[in-house]
Amino acid sequence: MDVGEARRLFEQHGLPGYRGEQVLSWIHRHGIRDYSQMTNLPAYLRDELQGIAPLRPASVAAERRSVDGTIKLLLEYPDGNAVETVIMRHDYGVSVCVSSQVGCAMGCSFCASGIGGLVRNLTPGEMLEQVLEASIQCRSMGAPRISSIVVMGSGEPMHNYDNVVRFVRLANWNKGLGIGYRHITVSTCGIVPGIRRLAGEGIPITLSVSLHAPDDETRSRLMPVNRVYPVGELIAACRDYADVTGRRVTYEYALVRSVNDSPRHARKLVELIAGSLCHVNLIPVNPVEEAGFDRPDQATVQAFADVLSRAGISTTIRRELGTDIEAACGQLRRRVLGEERGRSR
Ligand code: SAH
Repeated sequence: MDVGEARRLFEQHGLPGYRGEQVLSWIHRHGIRDYSQMTNLPAYLRDELQGIAPLRPASVAAERRSVDGTIKLLLEYPDGNAVETVIMRHDYGVSVCVSSQVGCAMGCSFCASGIGGLVRNLTPGEMLEQVLEASIQCRSMGAPRISSIVVMGSGEPMHNYDNVVRFVRLANWNKGLGIGYRHITVSTCGIVPGIRRLAGEGIPITLSVSLHAPDDETRSRLMPVNRVYPVGELIAACRDYADVTGRRVTYEYALVRSVNDSPRHARKLVELIAGSLCHVNLIPVNPVEEAGFDRPDQATVQAFADVLSRAGISTTIRRELGTDIEAACGQLRRRVLGEERGRSR
């Protein structure tokens, strides 16, 4: 719920609207999801509220800590579904990677999140809870507060569009987490109508697009979504997004050995995006057992980056975090759920 909705709900029950705002503020600012701990509410109200607006918090079902400071949480919601959330520390602050769906329907061939298909969408509140849990972790470690959010966990945000946009607005709420729109990134596999709609939302967040190949043949092989929204249409939508919002679009490019990593692919990529407001993030693919893909060697990655840089395209090779804790997409969930299934057999 946003503030307006919380106020209205309270008023409908004959309670003062500002109490609704107080409750939201406990949740957003302190991560408290238990009325009995909201000490500035009168006792009678605390009892009554669980009946009016029940709080059913998620719990941390598993946790992994990497030597590099990355933490991965497996959060379990009351219905038993679990998603991953990753906390990453950088020089500029702490970022949280949030999942938008349980599982994913997109079926990208290299990604562990989509292996079991889509289970269900997450609500805005469930996405917010991931950030709240992350922020509780940061506090307990004495780490700085969370400064940015990337919606890059499991799920396809554009496939759960309304909830993701609502979540983004909640995270930005100035009496809550107060994360600036410029510090929020939404990553999509390339659902063109979603990108076009987001451009008109009036929220200047960063759009990140998982491109991974510069031509339809290679891209369709890696990402089935390309058969519906081919490369040309996708790039046109991204160029328009940059024009409308004035925000630089990030292209994610996972390098897969002998599939999309040659200088020819790099040159094609240059042709495709030259002259647009963008940034390319190269990621040596995380090998996922089921996919059978390998990462290129370092020289190949560097050569690919050099072609882009020489053409004047802003390029980075992604610094890897959390490899030792299966921090990449969907890996921990598969491991933990797999073990549970193994045990129950
Ligand atoms: N559905 C959204 C967001 C979730 S995936 C999207 O497609 O952008 C987050 C990012 O991780 C995407 O760029 C995705 O392509 C990438 N990814 C998934 N599996 C990967 C792997 N095994 N190695 C490297 N990147 C991967």
